[in-house]
Amino acid sequence: MLKINNVSVKYGSFTAIRDINIEVEEGEIVVLLGANGAGKSTTFNTVSGLNRPFQGEVIFEGSRIDKMSPDRIVKAGIAQCAEGRKLFPAMSVLENLKMGGYVHRRHRDQIKKTLEHVFELFPILEEKKDDPAGSLSGGQQQMVAIGRALMAKPKLMMLDEPSIGLAPLIVEQMFEVIQQINKEGTTILLAEQNANAALKIATKGYVFESGAVVVEGTSEELFTNDEVRKAYIGA
Ligand code: ATP
Repeated sequence: MLKINNVSVKYGSFTAIRDINIEVEEGEIVVLLGANGAGKSTTFNTVSGLNRPFQGEVIFEGSRIDKMSPDRIVKAGIAQCAEGRKLFPAMSVLENLKMGGYVHRRHRDQIKKTLEHVFELFPILEEKKDDPAGSLSGGQQQMVAIGRALMAKPKLMMLDEPSIGLAPLIVEQMFEVIQQINKEGTTILLAEQNANAALKIATKGYVFESGAVVVEGTSEELFTNDEVRKAYIGA
């Protein structure tokens, strides 16, 4: 479904990611592991069209997307749920969610149906739909961010650190919802520092270090890899 082939990205003269190769099959949950600054967000932003690679190509469902505009990439079926949530804090929960459906604005019935589905996944958001998004708890804001990405009806959803700053119980619920979204047919690419939780739901993973992929394998392989355990699982 998604192929990142030999992709390198620079910010000015600094090479943030080098020769990245990643493959995501339809239906999978794929996790990118790595410390802060290792290059996970840069990789996501390259897939979503916010960064332009100076080398390599990004292919989605057989077509090159690395020269497409971000809105065309969303229309093609890729939605990104950014780290730090990046909501519009003064706007209501409902307005934030509707923003995610912008690319489908001519299909009101579809938007209404998708919104109902988001409220089924996150009933608390229906209760709080008229509240300013910025007044919600961290976990609820993360739900809005995921809901907003779902409003674009993506085939592939990229989630950047969905568990960051959340209490363990909320993290568990978040991962359950991600799994459910996946079961309903959305392929997931996930960046996480919480390797333990992420590898439990992922099919495979890639470990980033200083802008390069240093280890890749099935979740099972990564889970039992001594270096991965030492660095990311703490055992
Ligand atoms: P994090 O979880 O902190 O976002 P990450 O693994 O996603 O980490 P990136 O955000 O992709 O890492 O950052 C990769 C490298 O590129 C880091 O050294 C970072 O400082 C640098 N970087 C990221 N964005 C920019 C930018 N806009 N301009 C210059 N350097 C940047």
